[in-house]
Amino acid sequence: MEAVEQYYEEVELPSGGVFYSNIPDKLHLRPMTGYEQDILTTERLVKSGKALDMVLSNCLKEKIDLNELLVVDHAYLLFKLREISYGEIYPVKIKCPDCGKENEVEINLAEALSNVKEPDILSEPFEVELPSKGKAVCVFPRVKHIREVEKLSKTKGVEALPNFVERNTTALLSQLITELYLPYVKDELPKQEKIRRMFAKDIAYLRKFINTKGAVFKPEFSFACEFCGHEGMMDIPIQANFFFPDVE
Ligand SMILES: [Zn+2]
Repeated sequence: MEAVEQYYEEVELPSGGVFYSNIPDKLHLRPMTGYEQDILTTERLVKSGKALDMVLSNCLKEKIDLNELLVVDHAYLLFKLREISYGEIYPVKIKCPDCGKENEVEINLAEALSNVKEPDILSEPFEVELPSKGKAVCVFPRVKHIREVEKLSKTKGVEALPNFVERNTTALLSQLITELYLPYVKDELPKQEKIRRMFAKDIAYLRKFINTKGAVFKPEFSFACEFCGHEGMMDIPIQANFFFPDVE
């Protein structure tokens, strides 16, 4: 095992680790081996959504509870693992949103991984004043919150990660809000009910607050269509070759 020691790379988390008590602020990742590839091809593990967790746990030097990681740190670790294992170039096929033609693009993961913003808020829980003069006391999204929401929806595994927060706002908010006061809703109602009755404006504000005031890691790249010239930032898609590249 000692020989593998030198292949660990230090990873600084987007959050800087400031919200953790049981997770060090710097972690160490090593490249995937054949053993991890086997895990990713074991259908039973992939279907149950456990494969990626096992792979990430294996490749991390520190034994941590992945469920306690912030979603942003978790996503960062997965992209970092891809970079460490196969290098920074990630070739993908992207359908142009404008002309619909398929482009072959080489995404530079090192560039994407540098697109990180440190958190503005440094302690939890934090209070957010809403546009309606209501107040929400919240924490930032962790993997365990996503898992709770996953139980209610059908999305699982890798493809769920980067855009998950966008697609399941209210279900996720009920995981993140610890206390809620709304001037337009009876205060004795259960939290779940209050969240359901929140004004859309308050929800949008809170969502934006949570998405921007914590650490931010946006796996994006700048797309330029070679057929029609369309340009814009796009989310980096996680395609089959993310963890199984065709080595040329
Ligand atoms: Zn195009």
